[in-house]
Amino acid sequence: MYRISLITGDGIGPEISDAVMDVLQTINDNLGLKLEIKKLEAGDVALRKTGKALPDSTLETIKKSDACLKAPVGESAADVIVVLRRILDLYANIRPAKSYPNMPALKQNIDLVIVRENTEDLYTGMEFDIGDSAIALRTISKDASNRIARYAFKTAAQRNRQRKVTCVHKSNVMRKTDGLFSRSCQEISKEHADIEFEQMYVDACAMNLIRQPESFDVIVTTNLFGDILSDEAAQVVGGLGMAAAANIGNNFALFEPVHGAAFDIAGKQAANPSSFILSAKMMFEWLAMKNDDKKCYQVAKAIEDAVYGVVRDGTKTKDIGGNKTTREFAEQVISRIT
Ligand code: ATP
Repeated sequence: MYRISLITGDGIGPEISDAVMDVLQTINDNLGLKLEIKKLEAGDVALRKTGKALPDSTLETIKKSDACLKAPVGESAADVIVVLRRILDLYANIRPAKSYPNMPALKQNIDLVIVRENTEDLYTGMEFDIGDSAIALRTISKDASNRIARYAFKTAAQRNRQRKVTCVHKSNVMRKTDGLFSRSCQEISKEHADIEFEQMYVDACAMNLIRQPESFDVIVTTNLFGDILSDEAAQVVGGLGMAAAANIGNNFALFEPVHGAAFDIAGKQAANPSSFILSAKMMFEWLAMKNDDKKCYQVAKAIEDAVYGVVRDGTKTKDIGGNKTTREFAEQVISRIT
């Protein structure tokens, strides 16, 4: 039995959370994997109700669970996800981008994953006003760079695809910070002679993601660049509505869509729940690996097959060229989990 904490979030969060809840219930009922799901509040609604974007009770329940699913939150996002990443030391942000049949992808043979450092860079909130100017401090440490580089090489070996790691930075301009990141990745590459290693400036990477996305296998990069490149990569394979992510630490992991709360379509049943359902798929893969549990692998595969089977057969939400509502799409996915 696995205890799963589920933050329902803001904007489209509650709608896509309903879809995920139904998928998890179906897994419990049809696939025989026992799950105990605790719905939790965090974000703008929680802030209004309790005065805290991340209420203590939510944090305590997450800590007692085996893994956390988190829907997007709104304005208070930084007070939820950035804090959770820090408290739970979720240092690796994993964002896959893969083309599937009948999806509006740039090319049909894309299969890459972005491994983004999750704890430092310009996202630590160290910003200051100085007179009429504002400054931000960028921290890049050797320990964090080594740790994420090791994770990237491990991922390339496990995927066993092109067996290639591309280190992305801008060390010709940010010589100290990105220089350190680049050297650290280079150093760790020596521990993995069987994995190809290349380096690329971030502007070139942004261009190559459009020009030849199929040439990438594993991209390892710093926090801000990873945030931007993963939105781009998501669009290259069909858009944010399909984009799932994992935040992984040594002992715990949190899974969430790449996109934000999308207030423009909230409450209209217009959201594509795939991003969150596929985040649950990533959760079961992680649980499978952590606990050496084959059943979880089967569940992850069943979720992936169901989502992409539905899309392949032409059932789609508006963002990917269809006319199904969030609920209708989710019902089709659920009907395939048997
Ligand atoms: P953030 O800065 O928090 O990432 P954002 O303002 O960049 O948020 P998102 O919420 O990520 O914006 O969404 C960008 C646009 O993509 C939305 O306006 C919405 O139309 C679309 N979008 C995002 N997620 C989905 C989804 N699951 N289904 C359909 N469309 C989506």
